[in-house]
Amino acid sequence: MINRVVIVGGGTAGWMTASYFKAAFGDRIDITLVESGHLGTVGVGEATFSDIRHFFEFLGLKEKDWMPACNATYKLAVRFENWREQGHYFYHPFEQMRSVNGFPLTDWWLQEGPTSRFDKDCFVMPSVIDAGLSPRQLDGTLIDQPFVEGADEMQGLTMSEHQGKTQFPYAYHFEAALLAKYLTTYSVERGVKHIIDDVESVDLDSRGWITGVRTGEHGDISGDLYIDCTGFRGVLLNKALEEPFISYQDTLPNDSAVALQVPMDMEKRGIRPCTTATAQDAGWIWTIPLMGRVGTGYVYAKDYISPEEAERTLREFVGPAAADAEANHIKMRIGRSRNSWVKNCVGIGLTSGFVEPLESTGIFFIHHAIEQLAKNFPDDNWNETHRDRYNDAIAHVMDGVREFLVLHYVGAKRNDTQYWRDAKTRKMPDGLAERIEKWKTQLPDSETVFPYYHGLPPYSWGCILLGTGGIEVKPSPALRISDSSAAQREFEAIREKTEHLTRTLPKAYDYFSQLS
Ligand code: FAD
Repeated sequence: MINRVVIVGGGTAGWMTASYFKAAFGDRIDITLVESGHLGTVGVGEATFSDIRHFFEFLGLKEKDWMPACNATYKLAVRFENWREQGHYFYHPFEQMRSVNGFPLTDWWLQEGPTSRFDKDCFVMPSVIDAGLSPRQLDGTLIDQPFVEGADEMQGLTMSEHQGKTQFPYAYHFEAALLAKYLTTYSVERGVKHIIDDVESVDLDSRGWITGVRTGEHGDISGDLYIDCTGFRGVLLNKALEEPFISYQDTLPNDSAVALQVPMDMEKRGIRPCTTATAQDAGWIWTIPLMGRVGTGYVYAKDYISPEEAERTLREFVGPAAADAEANHIKMRIGRSRNSWVKNCVGIGLTSGFVEPLESTGIFFIHHAIEQLAKNFPDDNWNETHRDRYNDAIAHVMDGVREFLVLHYVGAKRNDTQYWRDAKTRKMPDGLAERIEKWKTQLPDSETVFPYYHGLPPYSWGCILLGTGGIEVKPSPALRISDSSAAQREFEAIREKTEHLTRTLPKAYDYFSQLS
């Protein structure tokens, strides 16, 4: 029976995998996790997708259990600043798109929206975020939205099975190091063997299958299934098994980042409950508010700006509070391993693949990979069907997200530096140009977006097109000859609801203070 699992790497990927597998398989699985004591983790990755709540639910954890321990806050959207022009911003919120007479409300908005702000006319969250509010009342009651919390029929579904049924209205920000620590305790308490040591070499049999990993001080560690969570190093999958890496660099040129952890008095500053992505001359800066500090970083392309200039720009952007913060310069490997599962080794996390963190998809990739591996767990004969299904699912998710990110750059109206001008003429992933042509006369729907599960509902694609503003889109022709009164009532209902919520919800900071 295949039930001895060796995980190499103790970053977010390693510990999420260990804890999920313990929750899924209990004592029927034997897990050893080896992590280096001196090779650090990547040290970033603090914003998530709203589906992440299924991960914590699966582990049986409630927000009050883990959020205070990880200085976590809510994330209701990504806020894009200066992607169209200086001073402009828009939101890509976690909020179910309403539809009227079979058309998404954004289509009606294009036809005759009440104001020039698609995000505030079609969703309630943007105004809640602008006011720095929590989506939960102080007693924990969640705002009334079209989604189902804790509904029985939703329990135990994977993220891909959930899609389209519901859109939970928020994700989380958390301190990555604290989450890894929290999940370490969770996993070890449930029987995961934790070894701190370096894997110095990997033993292969004559067929090239892994028979064990050799550590510096703990000798050989062997199992049936090996999970490579060694980050960009890809020690097992890419180095020992020589699985090639497919670069996305030709379509997504950002290959570097510099990050700062900036301590702040969040009570004074207030928490804007979203991740902000502020466009810069050669990339963009993320801002992630946590309880006690802000995480920030400049993602850029080295062909356009040096690491020194990027760090200087980031420090100026943050201001005096960043003076004592140590910069973490990161070289990013953008793309995916050709196959994430090869022989008896599965790469999860940065080893498997990574696209720049513009839509916070790294941890989503990990969560999706874990769900897929649990679903396609190998049988005793290593039936190739499980492996092939897994590899297809992983490749589709990353290829789909790559397309989505490319749309941000192709769609950005901003044209003021060489970086932004080149973004309009750079090669696009196959199929995207054709899809964009379709969207010019009807916003993205489930029939016209990337055809495989990739985590992003059609409305997300529509938000980026409408927000970035560089591609002219028109409403569906049918709406010109349709009665719009029902859509106008919906816009009015959103306006009233927004007004009610901004009057009654507590400040985000106050909510988290009382939670801890
Ligand atoms: P790592 O964190 O690099 O961990 C690798 C582990 O392997 C470490 O424990 C290391 O000690 C161990 N290791 C390596 N070699 C050996 C060896 N020989 N022997 C033993 N142990 C070894 N994702 C998001 O979802 N949201 C975000 O906002 C986000 N922002 C990001 C920003 C940047 C700039 C980058 C680069 C990534 C970002 N990500 C984000 C992605 C996210 O950080 C990663 O997906 C996540 O942290 C998982 O990393 P990992 O565990 O795969 O690798």
